Amino acid sequence: MKHVIVIGGGVAGMQCASELLRQGLAVTIIEKEQDLGGKVRNWHKLFPTFTPADEVLSAMRHRLKISNNLKIRTGCQATTITANSVTLCSGEELKCDATVIATGFTLFDAQIKEEYGYGIYDNVITSAELEQMFNENNVHLAHGGTPKRIAILHCVGSRDEKVCQRHCSKVCCVTGVKQAIELKKLFPAADVFNFYMDIRMFGPGYEEMYREAQTAYNVHFVRGRISEVSPTFNSQLQIKAEDTLTGRPLKMSVDMLVLLIGMKSNEHNITLRNECNLLAQPSGFMQPQDSFIGNVTSNVDGIFYAGTITAPKNVGESINEGTAAARAVIEWLNKH
Ligand SMILES: Cc1cc2nc3c(=O)[nH]c(=O)nc-3n(C[C@H](O)[C@H](O)[C@H](O)COP(=O)(O)OP(=O)(O)OC[C@H]3O[C@@H](n4cnc5c(N)ncnc54)[C@H](O)[C@@H]3O)c2cc1C
Ligand code: SF4
Repeated sequence: MKHVIVIGGGVAGMQCASELLRQGLAVTIIEKEQDLGGKVRNWHKLFPTFTPADEVLSAMRHRLKISNNLKIRTGCQATTITANSVTLCSGEELKCDATVIATGFTLFDAQIKEEYGYGIYDNVITSAELEQMFNENNVHLAHGGTPKRIAILHCVGSRDEKVCQRHCSKVCCVTGVKQAIELKKLFPAADVFNFYMDIRMFGPGYEEMYREAQTAYNVHFVRGRISEVSPTFNSQLQIKAEDTLTGRPLKMSVDMLVLLIGMKSNEHNITLRNECNLLAQPSGFMQPQDSFIGNVTSNVDGIFYAGTITAPKNVGESINEGTAAARAVIEWLNKH
C-alpha cells in the first residue's frame, strides 16, 4: 500500500488526509502542536456564515475516521522534507511514497508596528486575540468594563513595504467586518469604526455582509490609515489618522483598538527553499508549479502543497486545496 506523509494538521492537511484515506492509501499526519485543526482552533465564528469554528473542525475530525491506515503524530515538527522521506526534529526519519506540505501561515507580529502601541498600551489587541475573547465570552477592557468606542484597523502587516509584507492577506477585511458585527451584537450601543485602505470583499456573501454591517449594525467605515496611537489621561487611546476621502486629518479617542494582523509566510519556508530546492515567491509563500492547473503541485517531483502554504486563503479554499492535493498525489502515484 502506498504511504503519503501530510505535514501540518490544519484544515488543509486534515482534508487532504481524509481524501487520501478514502482512496485507500496509508497516511501519516505530522503536526507540531498537540492537536489537529491549525489556526481555526483559535477562531470563534467563521465568516461569512457565522458558523462556529468548532462545528467545522468536529465535522472534519469525524471525516478523518480512525483507521489502521492512519497515523497521527502530534507534538512533532517536520524539519527536512523530500518526496520519499520526512525528518522530524527528534532526528527520526519516516519513509513515504509522496509528501504533502500543508504547514499553513504565520500571524504577523503586531509589535513590529510600534506606532500602534501593541504590547505597550492597554486595550490595543489583535484580531486573533479578539477571537479568543469571543470564544471565552469575555470581551472586556484591561481593567474591567466594556468598550463603548472601538476602532478596528485594517492592513496591519499587509500591503506594507516598510515591514516587507507587500501582499494583501485577503481574509482580514472580511474578518474586520465580521468582528465589527460581533462587537455590535455584544455591545449594541457601542460605536465601532473600521479604518481601511480599500475594502476587499472577494467572496460569496462578503459584500452583503459589508452592507449589512452598515445598514443593520451601523458600523462606521473610515477610509484612512492610523498613523499614531497614544494613551490619554483617562485610560483611553487617542488615534491620529488621515481621512483619505476628505483629505482631512482626524483625531479620535477610543476605548479599544483591534489590529487586523496579516497572514505572513512561515520562517520554515526559507529552509524548504534552501534545503529541499522548492521555489518560493517574493512574498515568502511557496511557489506552486502553475497558478491555474498545477496550484497544488510543487517544482519537486512527489512533493505537493495544500492550503495557505502557497498564499493567504479562507477556510473553504484551504479545504478544497486539501482535496485537490490528494487527487494530484493519487494521479502522480498511479504514473510512478
Ligand atoms: C484572524 C483570522 C481570522 C480568520 N477567520 C476566518 C474565518 O472566519 N473564515 C475563514 O474562511 N477563514 C478565516 N481565516 C483564514 C483561516 O485561518 C485559514 O484559511 C486556515 O487556517 C488555513 O488552514 P491551513 O491548514 O492552510 O493552515 P494553518 O491553519 O496555519 O494550519 C497549518 C498547520 O501546520 C502545522 N505546522 C506548521 N509547520 C509545521 C511543521 N514544520 N511540522 C509539523 N506541523 C507544522 C501548524 O501547527 C498548523 O496546525 C482567518 C485568518 C485569520 C488570520
Ligand atoms: S484583506 Fe483588506 S485588510 Fe487584509 S491586507 Fe487586504 S486590503 Fe488589507
